[in-house]
Amino acid sequence: DPLTGLPNRRAFETGFPQALGLAQRQHPVALVMLDIDHFKGVNDRYGHGVGDQVLLALAQSLKVLTRRADLAARLAGDEFAVLLPDIDTAGLDAWYARLSDHFRSELNAFGLDLNTGLSAGQTWLSDAPGDTLNDALARADRALYQAKARGRGQLVQDAAPGADAAE
Ligand code: GH3
Ligand code: MG
Repeated sequence: DPLTGLPNRRAFETGFPQALGLAQRQHPVALVMLDIDHFKGVNDRYGHGVGDQVLLALAQSLKVLTRRADLAARLAGDEFAVLLPDIDTAGLDAWYARLSDHFRSELNAFGLDLNTGLSAGQTWLSDAPGDTLNDALARADRALYQAKARGRGQLVQDAAPGADAAE
């Protein structure tokens, strides 16, 4: 992605099969979708230049908060996705808290009144054959939608790994 230097959606699609392979070898692999809260308001109040800096701040936070085995990408606009192998639900909550804290401190450095946060939706890649990128993104997107509906600034996790994706 030219703005943030993160992998773009295409690169994410390219890296996805490796994560799916890990899941099929019984490694838990989390897919987290992130979306900046009220980002349009940042652009409207401070202009696109500041908006771009906010996107960079999130990208920087993701670079700090990901390990070598993780894959973080900017999918589009203010929407990012991360693959995190070998993590559990408690680890995810802790990771999300550290990421939000880091993002907030990056924003504080701008010295503007940017009261924006980070909503996140998570799903597990299935160890059963037949899971796809589109299915996994749809599940994570549903969880993200719940995070927005519950008041934003939070992570909503999907059902436990191996659980049926049907609701
Ligand atoms: P919500 O809390 O529901 O996510 O509200 P939101 O304002 O973040 O909602 P929405 O997803 O509609 O806003 C995304 C905005 O991101 C709209 C678009 O103008 C802006 N945007 C997309 N790409 C860029 C970019 O590269 N730079 C900047 N500055 N803004 C961008
Ligand atoms: Mg948004």
